[in-house]
Amino acid sequence: MWNPAINDATVAYFSMEIGLKSDLPTYSGGLGALAGDTISAAADLGVPMTAVTLLYRKGYFSQRLDEHGQQQVDDVVWNPADLLVELPARCDVKVAGRQVVLRAWQLNINGASGHVVPVYFLDADLPENDESDRALTDRLYGGDDRYRLSQELLLGVGGVRMLQALGYDNLTRYHMNEGHAALLTLQLLRDEANKHGRKTIIQADFEAVHDRCVFTTHTPVPAGHDQFPIELVDEIIGTDGEFHVDFRDTYAVDMVERIFQADAGMAERMRDLVKPGICLNMTYLALNLSRYVNGVAKKHGEVSRAMFSGYEIDAITNGVHVKSWASDYMHELFDRFIPDWRKDSFSLRSALSIPISALRAAHRKAKLDLMGIVKDRSGVVMDPDLLTIGFARRAATYKRADLLFHDLERLKEIARSRGGLQIIYAGKAHPKDQPGQAMIRHIVELGKQLEGHIAVVYLENYNLDLAKRMTSGVDIWLNTPMPPNEASGTSGMKAALNATPNLSVLDGWWIEGCIEGVTGWAIGRLDEDLSRVQDPSVHAESLYHKLGEVIMPLFYDDPINFAHVMRNSIALNGAFFNTHRMVHQYVVNAYFSRGNHNGKH
Ligand SMILES: *Cc1c(COP(=O)(O)O)cnc(C)c1O
Repeated sequence: MWNPAINDATVAYFSMEIGLKSDLPTYSGGLGALAGDTISAAADLGVPMTAVTLLYRKGYFSQRLDEHGQQQVDDVVWNPADLLVELPARCDVKVAGRQVVLRAWQLNINGASGHVVPVYFLDADLPENDESDRALTDRLYGGDDRYRLSQELLLGVGGVRMLQALGYDNLTRYHMNEGHAALLTLQLLRDEANKHGRKTIIQADFEAVHDRCVFTTHTPVPAGHDQFPIELVDEIIGTDGEFHVDFRDTYAVDMVERIFQADAGMAERMRDLVKPGICLNMTYLALNLSRYVNGVAKKHGEVSRAMFSGYEIDAITNGVHVKSWASDYMHELFDRFIPDWRKDSFSLRSALSIPISALRAAHRKAKLDLMGIVKDRSGVVMDPDLLTIGFARRAATYKRADLLFHDLERLKEIARSRGGLQIIYAGKAHPKDQPGQAMIRHIVELGKQLEGHIAVVYLENYNLDLAKRMTSGVDIWLNTPMPPNEASGTSGMKAALNATPNLSVLDGWWIEGCIEGVTGWAIGRLDEDLSRVQDPSVHAESLYHKLGEVIMPLFYDDPINFAHVMRNSIALNGAFFNTHRMVHQYVVNAYFSRGNHNGKH
């Protein structure tokens, strides 16, 4: 019987977070926004995909800042039934010895040509579950290791079982968006053995599963690679006797050893941070059981190959979904000058035919809207004629939000002598990230010291909507991470397609996107010695130079040529750094390629 809840998907996309709408609080930041944009592009392009994540009844969190910039954290209050459709399907997963029943809620993403990609949100809050288990799908990235591993078990094993319960029987690819979903491989192994009437896993099962899985790794930062002590794995996942590895099969034994002890092979910088004892490392589990593995920008591919030697790791540079991120004013402009842009993001190259005056007018409207938001939220009245810098990202210390404030006197002098500056910040810190929270307080404090010279605001509760408002409404999008920590970054891509040029350290996507003076500007040099830039004054110097000597003179004295950089941002970067191009690459290189690329050699 045809089931309206499902489609004919062959690709199942698994992600711990998926960000599709601001008020659907199932995301934290870049990883979730990317997942949402991937799904939206797959829908536009007619890719037979379905997606799975968890529901998060209390969201990630909602952020307030007190007058000192101290972050206050609230649960998000929302009602899933307002946004999602509850499905009758159920499945269960044994977590720490107890059955946990899962329900699924559905959201259909409709593509530009009518194709639909359904997204399923798994929910453990059911009366038949133990009280503590009902809370397992409350919070994204909340709780301890035990909570996290339990969630990953629900996502991976629960996700595969839910898709089966829903009636999917045509899935040939499982895409793990980050290692969080890697436990899906355990269910696939078990199914493979069951299919052949076995209770033991042998080489053929590993090979069959390996041929079906695709893994995208997203960060070179060690804390981004989950690993769990073996005792905890035993307790939460356990071995229930109906499933074990055949220890006479040397391939299978070798595989298990690689998965559990692979830590020893990690690069020097990771090694120090690896917990003692044997761990289940989600990244190694995914690496060992995937036919295709990729990093999220060319440089990140290189960095990942160095971190995980012996694995073949390709690169597919991230993108953003143009229709979701273009401001209303850019929509109008694209409708007038770029026919078919909604179905085909490559056609943004025709932005070069948009008259400069129309482009400037559209960007100005987005800027005025943003100034209105700043006034409503902070009481600060900004001047739409002043060069406005935007900086918004997760408040992690390696992102160096305070680099712009390295030398306050120098910054004041630049603002005074070159025509004026104002700055809009936003970004959440993880509730357990004390240095990240200190960074927000620091920015707020230094912002106060600039009062009377440079208007600085820190907007609360950065989310998808605010990201769109900021990237489309400022004049320059600033990014100052410590290389090589930025795997890709995507907010700069949102800025580019909204005619907001980037000023950024050469890391992640910007190494590919920066054509100096044409699409934006670089901070520092690509060939720099990484030990030299540990000293923040090196990049601060370059930042002040570009701002004071290059960008501000262009903005104030030669606005038409500044607008050419704005337009090039759309034509050269918007046309490429989008998820239409990215999903094409996943389809060709990862999903439907013949080869069995990745294998340890
Ligand atoms: C796009 C986006 C991000 C990712 O931005 P980066 O450039 O990767 O830091 C994070 N959070 C939100 C809400 C976003 O929309």
